[in-house]
Amino acid sequence: MINNSTALSYDDVLLAPQYSDIRSRSEIDLETRLGKNLNLKLPILASPMDTISETAMATKMALGGGAAVVHRYNTIEQQARMVGTALEEADGEGVVGAAIGISGDFINRASVLSALGVDFICVDVAHGHHILMKDALAKLRTIVGSDFHIMAGNVATLEGINDLADWGANSVRCNIGGGSICSTRIQTGHGMPGLQTIMDCAQTDRDVAIIADGGIKNSGDMVKALAAGADAVMVGSLLSGTAETPGSVMQDNDGHKWKMYRGMASKEAQVEWRGDYASLEGVATRVPYRGSVKDIIEDLERGIRSGLSYSGARTIMELQAKARFVNQSTSGLSESHTHILNRRW
Ligand code: IMP
Repeated sequence: MINNSTALSYDDVLLAPQYSDIRSRSEIDLETRLGKNLNLKLPILASPMDTISETAMATKMALGGGAAVVHRYNTIEQQARMVGTALEEADGEGVVGAAIGISGDFINRASVLSALGVDFICVDVAHGHHILMKDALAKLRTIVGSDFHIMAGNVATLEGINDLADWGANSVRCNIGGGSICSTRIQTGHGMPGLQTIMDCAQTDRDVAIIADGGIKNSGDMVKALAAGADAVMVGSLLSGTAETPGSVMQDNDGHKWKMYRGMASKEAQVEWRGDYASLEGVATRVPYRGSVKDIIEDLERGIRSGLSYSGARTIMELQAKARFVNQSTSGLSESHTHILNRRW
């Protein structure tokens, strides 16, 4: 069977600018409701990766109105300490999440983290549309109760998000193979262009929030994801290299500062956490050191506010109702990027 319709990626489209009566970007409210008492003032989540989300990232994301999902590649005690410290330091102000898997100690992790007061748990696996996810969600509900927010994923299809919702997830991370450090599509031949995933998943009739995860390169992609139906976006690379990511700042001989960013299915990450590696579906790389994550988040927020204003929308829901996507050609894409910098004189 083949589906011949073109599956869209973020760069394939633009949003048509529309009449706006918004006089100031401060009139725009970016609050998003993800269900089961989970609300974010800013629709940005930091990925559960060991080069992105530990205490410092969780604290700054919470204070900035978004949230980080503290990764699970550690002992329960280590993860509990990271989450506990972030909840203290964020002073009950913001939201902190934590990841668990679907096997091994995941039930213990969930009990410890929920007792600690974590705001939500994210069941974090590469292929979430899977019987092991179904079993894990059923067990988790008996531990955390019916009012606790469970995020799960990842999926790439409408059937995937519907099933995870029916199995008990309140929000679902959508997109497989689109991450900047991801090689899943090349290694396995499976995946779906990122924006298409969001458009397909947005057809759901279940009471479930959509998290557009991976492959988001700038605030413009964030606006496109939200317009296509996402309730929030999840990013790794956009926050990588900042002071708040785990790991030290390194310096080259020529004075350039950098940090590491790696996929959790990269050889480096698997060997460190499991002592061995299975299918390699990610890479590890150096990224330039970029200072405080607060500045990066504020920049992204300004871009999103401006984006809603171009569509004449005061809220994310209004953006979704009004958005008019247009396809862009490859020459349209090169016109969209700043192009004076490539000019030969
Ligand atoms: P980025 O924002 O494009 O860098 O993508 C980050 C997302 O990539 C994460 O939230 C995960 O969904 C996904 N991811 C993390 N590690 C890997 C990996 O090793 N292989 C494939 N996907 C990954």
